[in-house]
Amino acid sequence: MNNQPRHFSFPHAFETRMKNSLGIHWDMFAHAHLQTTPVSIRINPAKHKVYLPPVPWSNYGYYLNERPVFTLDPLFHAGAYYVQEASSLFLEQVVRQAADLTKPLRVLDLCAAPGGKSTHLLSLLSPDSLLISNEVIRSRAQVLWENIQKWGHANVIVTNSDPSAFQQLNGYFDIILVDAPCSGEGLFRKDPAACSEWSEDNVTLCSQRQRRILNDVWPALKQNGLLIYSTCTYNKHENEENLDAWAGAHDIDFFSVQLQPEWNVETISFRQSLGYRFYPHRVQGEGFFISAMIKRETTESTRIKTGGKLNAPSAKIIDRIKPWVDDPNLFQWGQHDDLIIQIPVSVAGEVEWISKLFYPLGKGTAVAELKHDKLIPEHAFALSNAINGNAFQTTDLNEADAIAYLRKDALTISEGLKGFGLVRFKNQNLGWVNHLGNRTNNLYPSNWRIRMAAGTNPLPE
Ligand code: SAM
Repeated sequence: MNNQPRHFSFPHAFETRMKNSLGIHWDMFAHAHLQTTPVSIRINPAKHKVYLPPVPWSNYGYYLNERPVFTLDPLFHAGAYYVQEASSLFLEQVVRQAADLTKPLRVLDLCAAPGGKSTHLLSLLSPDSLLISNEVIRSRAQVLWENIQKWGHANVIVTNSDPSAFQQLNGYFDIILVDAPCSGEGLFRKDPAACSEWSEDNVTLCSQRQRRILNDVWPALKQNGLLIYSTCTYNKHENEENLDAWAGAHDIDFFSVQLQPEWNVETISFRQSLGYRFYPHRVQGEGFFISAMIKRETTESTRIKTGGKLNAPSAKIIDRIKPWVDDPNLFQWGQHDDLIIQIPVSVAGEVEWISKLFYPLGKGTAVAELKHDKLIPEHAFALSNAINGNAFQTTDLNEADAIAYLRKDALTISEGLKGFGLVRFKNQNLGWVNHLGNRTNNLYPSNWRIRMAAGTNPLPE
């Protein structure tokens, strides 16, 4: 990776427009596209620490000197960090400044796959908040659910719905994030396909779709709630013009984010709208746009039904599961067919109510499958931040064995052990094995298994 292009050919119409808008700064912008893309990660503060140069606007973002082969780093699969472009981590500033994160908030991430901003939000929200992480494209929603499970939080529902479906939850959300599908101009350096697929027709299409998405989801935001709109494009039609039109049609106040001058983030005041733009020649990151608005207009609210009850497993099963959890008082358990899940008590009723409306792809944390009175622990539970690691036998793997485990290769680590056990790498749970005395069954989920050859280049500490 990090291949450095010698030439960069921008689409002609894009180049003309950007030369006009950037003026004397065009050369620096074009030159930045000949540089390597900065590599950044965002750590999972519930699991991991690193000592690397920080991304200035985020408590969790760090830069790497080069791009390791993330697929071959066991910590990546343990949900210890997420690989995420640095500019987009500015969401954290917006949320920290515009919302009271000590409160239990109801948050919708409407266009959420593959899950960068959803997992970021989970690290920021209080544990008694609830995130609904939605993705309209089914295959992408599956990837989203996988990434959410790796992150280890249980206060989340993953849905696969059209934005208009959220009109069943009018006035419900304190925060809605619309990280809209866009023309991707800010990703030209990182993703040359975004450059070759760019066209003015596509910009028009994106801009119309963005307005439709905003219209569809707007009733779900409560009065005085926060709408965050972001794209990875510089395009005015998709950013400030869309938001100016939005401000003309709705009673909103733009939220002004306090910026540090050394961040080099550009404030975009366009007619009634206010937003923030990131250019690759000014920040160590890619192109990005973000804006935050407070909804002032009165909004009718759907009646929230918090009294819903999970279909609970038997008391005997719950008694067997409780010691597996660090603080069992925080959770309720539900049973769907043979699957036992856990949900924070603080949101369990709402999760049941919302589940009936949306048929989510996933919710809370899957703990175990019940098979003839036997509890087979679920992979998601191994990665949960709530697991009591002391309740299980654990085996620490070296790097080669950890990779073998993630490839679902046969392991020879039993040596007298019996029953289910956790395997770990550098203190992070990777998943389950079943020790059979003379051999070990590798329980890593087949569809998550890595298919790349070894020869790793792991993340620096
Ligand atoms: N927020 C994600 C993250 O941080 O990982 C990235 C989201 S990406 C910019 C936009 C997402 O919107 C894509 O996953 C795409 O499938 C989805 N999308 C495409 N068309 C949509 C539509 N009409 N309504 C809602 N979402 C749509």
